[in-house]
Order: sequence, then C-alpha cells, then structure tokens
Amino acid sequence: MGRLSLLNQLAAGSTEWLEPAFDSTTGTVRYPGVEGDGAGESLPTALEALATRGVLDEEFDERVVACPDCGSGGLDVRPSCPNCESRNTTAVAVVEHVVCGCVRPRAEFEADGEFVCPKCESEIDSLDEGCERMGTMQCCRDCGERSDALTHRLDCATCGSCTPEEANDVRLYRYRFDDDRRDWLETLLGVREGLTDALEARGYDVRRDVAVDGDAGQRYIDCYASDTTFGVEIVAAVHDAVDVQAIEELRAVADATGARPVIATPVTGRNGAAVALAEAKGITVMAIDESGAVVGQSPVAAPASSVSGPATAATGASTASRSR
Ligand SMILES: [Zn+2]
Ligand SMILES: [Zn+2]
Ligand SMILES: [Zn+2]
Repeated sequence: MGRLSLLNQLAAGSTEWLEPAFDSTTGTVRYPGVEGDGAGESLPTALEALATRGVLDEEFDERVVACPDCGSGGLDVRPSCPNCESRNTTAVAVVEHVVCGCVRPRAEFEADGEFVCPKCESEIDSLDEGCERMGTMQCCRDCGERSDALTHRLDCATCGSCTPEEANDVRLYRYRFDDDRRDWLETLLGVREGLTDALEARGYDVRRDVAVDGDAGQRYIDCYASDTTFGVEIVAAVHDAVDVQAIEELRAVADATGARPVIATPVTGRNGAAVALAEAKGITVMAIDESGAVVGQSPVAAPASSVSGPATAATGASTASRSR
C-alpha cells in the first residue's frame, strides 16, 4: 500500500508494534498484517525512511544471516580448518619449553612415557615445572594445519557453504506509529482527500495505493488517476513538504509509467526552493488547504488555452472541456 495508507493503518493500531518476519524462501523481510503481506520490495525501506523522519518508532528485533545465493536464513554454522575447510579438527593443549622457548602441542613433548623437548632434545622431569601452558591451538587432522582459530563457514542446505563475509546480513526491525504525529497525519489524509475530490471533479477515475513497476522495483503510490477518454494518467504523491527525495521518487515513477506527476501538499508545504526544482522537473505541485480545496498549483505544461486558473488540473486539455 501507499505510504499514507500504511501510516493510517499503523496509526489505527498504534499501541501495537508491526512485527517483521524473515521470509526464507525469498530472503526478504515481510510485515504480515500489512495488506498484501508487505508485498513489494520497498516496504522495509519505506518503514525505515518513516522512522528516520520521526513518524514511526523503531525497535531492533532480530538479525538473520542468510545465504547469498538462495536467501535462506537457516544456515548451519560450521567451524572448519582455515587451510582445507575440513571439519575434522581438534583443539590441543600447547606448552612452551621454558629453557629453549619451543612452543608445541603438549603431546609432542611425550615419548614412551618420558618427556623430551622436540627442539632442544633435553629431558624434562615434569611438564608442569619445565613447561608453561600456552592455551590451546586448533589442529586439522586432515591437512595438519595448526591455527589459533577456526574459520566459521556457513552451510546452506541447498547451495553449499559460504563465509560470514559473503552471507547476507539482514536486520529486522519492528515499527509503531508515533502518537505525537497524529495531527500531522490527519493533515496529510485531508490533503489526499482534497486531491481525490479535485481530480474526480475534473473527470478522473481515482484509485489509491496503486502498485507501479519501475526501475527500482515495485512501488506503491498514494493516488493514481486516469481519464480514459483523453488517455491521461496521473501519479500523485502526498507529502508534508516538497523535498528532493520526494521529487526524485515521483519523477522515477512518472518516467516508468509515462503518467503525469503531481505532488500534493498542505499549503505550508508549497513554500521553499524545492518547489521550483519540482516544477523544473515537470512535476505539478498542488497545495490543498484545510477544507480540502486546491488553493495553489504550479503552472502546467499544457496548452496555454486550457489553463484557466488555479483550479485547472495537471491535465489541462481534458479538464477544460469537461468542466464546461
Ligand atoms: Zn542457499
Ligand atoms: Zn585442514
Ligand atoms: Zn627445549
């Protein structure tokens, strides 16, 4: 669903956290409870962005180490030899001969029940006195490699093994609507209402939360309007203010769909340098007041004859003929 509907849903159940779930078959994070189970790759990103803006509370839930090939999260951690990857390893006690400094596994100092240093070959009466314990070392029984630590390989049941560096490190977060933003959300819902009414009055069929396919995968947009008679389509996003990110996102959707982009904002959102940038990028900015009326709109790149004042849509030609 679109960003605004998502917020609306979270606000309706704001005492509860929206819990994440890792989908092992796709290697993605889903949010069961969000319409369509959070279909569309962009949901975790959208939630994260809303948390960054302070609209949602965010809490760390879990970290999943997933297979880089198939996405499965059920990886077995397997300590193995850093040289040959064999799991046939063993930990051995290591001692140092105090006299000559020879450091070897304890077993190498033993021969026929006697203790002899493998380096200086002197006899040692007691290992406890003649040698110092140096901890343990990992020995590979297949290749003979000795090392301070084993490598941890991660085994996927289907794809084989990978190193921790190669694996996908997926962090899961839960989210909750921040109650302090309730008024802010009400304002934006009012803007969407006003936008919908304005477009419908101009003869458009308006749908909310429409998924569109773009270069960056599937995206949900707040409002999609179409006028089949004139073959005009509009993709509209509701924002509290026009900013560079909003412009870039919507421009990409417009380019991918061929629809005309509209950003709808409260009256205060239409100020600022970014509005000029939006207009330069061919995006219509519509300001909608508290009563839901369109009170300001960018000049539209439409035939000049059809532009008849602030109430004219981004779709000049169709509006002019419809409204008469
Ligand atoms: Zn795999
Ligand atoms: Zn080995
Ligand atoms: Zn020695």
